[in-house]
Amino acid sequence: MPTYTPPLRDMRFVMHEVFKVSDEFKAIPRYAEADADTINAVLEEAGKFAAEVTFPLNAAGDVEGCKLDPATHEVTTPAGFKEAYAKFVEAGWPALSCDPEFGGQGLPLVVNQCFYEMMNSANQAWTMYPGLTHGAYAALATHGTPEQRKTYLPKMTSGEWTGTMCLTEAHCGTDLGLMRTKAQPQADGSYRITGNKIFISAGEHDMAENIVHLVLARLPDAPPGIKGISLFIVPKLLVKADGSLGERNPVFCGGLEHKMGIHGNATAQINLDGATGWMVGQPNKGMQAMFVMMNAARLGVGNQSLGLTEVAYQNALAYAKERLQMRSLSGAKAKDKPADPIIVHPDVRKMLLTAKAYAEGGRALLVFCSVLLDKSHFHPDEKVRQDSDELLSLLTPIVKAFTTDNGHIATNACLQVFGGHGYIHEWGMEQFARDNRINMIYEGTNTIQALDLLGRKVLGNNGATLKKFGKLVAQLVQEEGVNEDMAEFVNPVAYLGEQMTKFTTEIGFRGFQNPDEVGAAAVDYLRVAGHLVHGYFWARMAQVALREIAAGNTDPFYRAKLQTARFYFAKLFPETAMLMRTARAGARPLMDTDLALA
Ligand SMILES: Cc1cc2nc3c(=O)[nH]c(=O)nc-3n(C[C@H](O)[C@H](O)[C@H](O)COP(=O)(O)OP(=O)(O)OC[C@H]3O[C@@H](n4cnc5c(N)ncnc54)[C@H](O)[C@@H]3O)c2cc1C
Repeated sequence: MPTYTPPLRDMRFVMHEVFKVSDEFKAIPRYAEADADTINAVLEEAGKFAAEVTFPLNAAGDVEGCKLDPATHEVTTPAGFKEAYAKFVEAGWPALSCDPEFGGQGLPLVVNQCFYEMMNSANQAWTMYPGLTHGAYAALATHGTPEQRKTYLPKMTSGEWTGTMCLTEAHCGTDLGLMRTKAQPQADGSYRITGNKIFISAGEHDMAENIVHLVLARLPDAPPGIKGISLFIVPKLLVKADGSLGERNPVFCGGLEHKMGIHGNATAQINLDGATGWMVGQPNKGMQAMFVMMNAARLGVGNQSLGLTEVAYQNALAYAKERLQMRSLSGAKAKDKPADPIIVHPDVRKMLLTAKAYAEGGRALLVFCSVLLDKSHFHPDEKVRQDSDELLSLLTPIVKAFTTDNGHIATNACLQVFGGHGYIHEWGMEQFARDNRINMIYEGTNTIQALDLLGRKVLGNNGATLKKFGKLVAQLVQEEGVNEDMAEFVNPVAYLGEQMTKFTTEIGFRGFQNPDEVGAAAVDYLRVAGHLVHGYFWARMAQVALREIAAGNTDPFYRAKLQTARFYFAKLFPETAMLMRTARAGARPLMDTDLALA
């Protein structure tokens, strides 16, 4: 059976030594008291919850899955899920980063992000029930009326009610403009919603007393396409004026999907049969309101893969130290044993270090983005809020796609470390790989993320936001450009930064002549950008490690960090050269293929 140890030491390193988050928070009155000790103490307890309460349910939940009673439309989650959720609510975990106005604890979002990394390592399927609630909370907090906020947010903060996002229909996933679900206005200001949604995560379950569905639908006079979509709150149980629960709303689970992974999460077909709903935000501006939830969810999905990368790595590392097979090419290492542990073999090390580098680089990226989110919401200086928001918007598709692609690479590499045993259920490794697979698909496939990055966020504003990230790189070069010890980390990032400018202009020029050129380059482009970003964070982590070592710190943590940084720059980062080459090969080898694809 797999094991899990919360990576608290590395979280503390990233938060306090690399990004000095408490210093950032001193400038934000709301977080003035969020010092390192408070954050560390909360995360220590949070790690215990993940490791001791939800992790033990992960493998069993995968086997058991969820069950639908077709007569009542009620869904039963795997054994122990409901009880774990009761403990989660009782301990106040849902409220960690929610607004004190609604009963939240008001801790920085970065604390919640680290908590959820651990929860995703422990049990992604379980974690999606409260995880989606945070996205729905964010959409309502931003676009809900004061009345809607008062009715729903305290219950979502306490965890008594959970949330969902209902976008997808059988004929429309990526292209939501094709949506058919209808919303008919009623005399009392409510709407009657009718339609069929599919693939709704946590769409029906027995863990909370009510489910708040956020549903996209069309008004009768809505313009066609994406500009004619509005957002509605559709609770499973209607809420009475005094806040108590009333009758059942006709929003029923019509079926559960049988799927590759995350079996413990109910992926529901949701039938809205004249269900009562209330509009959130403006008519036909539903996508704007839903984007708050989608952006939160995109960061959340990256965090899911970060969690799975970490737990897969931990288990593969332990196995590689125990499993004896063959002798080391450079001579026996464990002479007292019949064979050496497989960790002596270069390629096993490569697989382990790949997962480790992606986990630690991914953690730096996610923590950095969570601090940006905190600043974009709550920093007193409007310019800081705006800059943080713009940078976050650039990095969001990278978090979503690069981290989940890396999760795919890492969980599969870690499975491979186990050889045939990795393919066998009881070791848990195949579950990590299966569970991760959906992360590359939902919340906008990774291709759609790449198009968003290159088309909208880079070319759409002539690279202005990309230049903002470039400024961070330039600052690092300025700080460390003459430090010989840092050259191996800073030079590749600086060089790639320069190449990116030319590469982007080139694709932009070609795309201007033929838009398919953008589609053909986008996925490769995002991966190059992902390495630029990871490279920058690895250089910053190496910078801290080198300083500590120079100051006489003998903690092996810092030397390990440098070794991983060296591995990353030597073995993973150079992928960028190949990716730029394939991107430059352009659209023709793809589009001039009608005969090949006939
Ligand atoms: C387990 C699971 C949970 C989910 N949870 C939710 C949920 O909670 N709420 C919800 O609303 N939805 C949910 N989804 C739906 C998910 O978001 C969609 O499946 C996803 O957005 C893709 O849509 P689709 O499946 O219709 O694929 P399609 O849109 O049909 O896409 C098929 C392929 O075509 C590609 N493609 C499409 N358009 C383009 C383009 N313009 N350029 C390049 N390539 C393109 C896609 O990248 C993809 O590879 C979930 C799905 C699953 C499987």
